[in-house]
Amino acid sequence: MRWTDRQRAMLLEMGIRLWPDATSNGASEAAETQLEVKSAQHALTPPPEQERSATAVVLPTAADLQQAPVPVRDDAVPISSGLSAMDWPELQVAVSRCTACRLCEARRQTVFGVGNRRAHWMIVGEAPGEQEDLAGEPFVGKSGQLLDNMLRAIQLTRDEAAPQRQVYIANTVKCRPPGNRNPQPDELARCEPYLIRQLDLVRPRIILAMGRFAVQSLLRSSEPIGKLRGRVHDYRGVPLIVTYHPAYLLRNLPDKARAWDDLCLAVETVKTCTGP
Ligand code: URA
Repeated sequence: MRWTDRQRAMLLEMGIRLWPDATSNGASEAAETQLEVKSAQHALTPPPEQERSATAVVLPTAADLQQAPVPVRDDAVPISSGLSAMDWPELQVAVSRCTACRLCEARRQTVFGVGNRRAHWMIVGEAPGEQEDLAGEPFVGKSGQLLDNMLRAIQLTRDEAAPQRQVYIANTVKCRPPGNRNPQPDELARCEPYLIRQLDLVRPRIILAMGRFAVQSLLRSSEPIGKLRGRVHDYRGVPLIVTYHPAYLLRNLPDKARAWDDLCLAVETVKTCTGP
């Protein structure tokens, strides 16, 4: 396969070199990179549209979720009956007026989510940072740039596009924790019903959980990302792939190659779930 300049740029942005590579001089390194590129090539070939939509995963409704025997943390707030019936505008207003935890005190605005509300892919991050708090949109800072590059490398975007190409992006927590500290367990628990309702409304075919707080919320797991990535998890019938948070990747460049593998696994999983 011939790589476009843009795809080359994306892979390089993620720290993945192409083979043959003029700068590569070790045989084993070349073989390793060749493998990565092989899976990347596969990932960059989207399946035909009809095949993708053949066997859509059916998500339970919010009402089902309320009854589902999902393990719930002690501090989790149950979804109110009002919330589980809300449509998008109602939900957005509810989030914008939320005062359920102390994060409402310092926020400039809530950060609801962005993208296609019928997206096949839903990306779940952690919490807004300063830039997001200013803009009212998730992932607009440096880690957002990397996320956009990662998405572009697998032909996805947050910008206007068809549901199979335009993702929906939401955070686990909708308000910026002061000083970008980690969200506290009670804050995560109080915000979680909003994310659940967003998932219920989007009904994605795949979820990409980025970073440990997304994983804690969606999988109820405190295992490190390194232990959870590399396989397909299940979030109430929807395949879920765990990967590193872009902010972590900006500090840990070698793990970008693993994140690339995770994206390839996600692409492969969507194909498998939506037909041969
Ligand atoms: N990190 C996140 O997890 N979400 C954002 O919106 C920004 C940074």
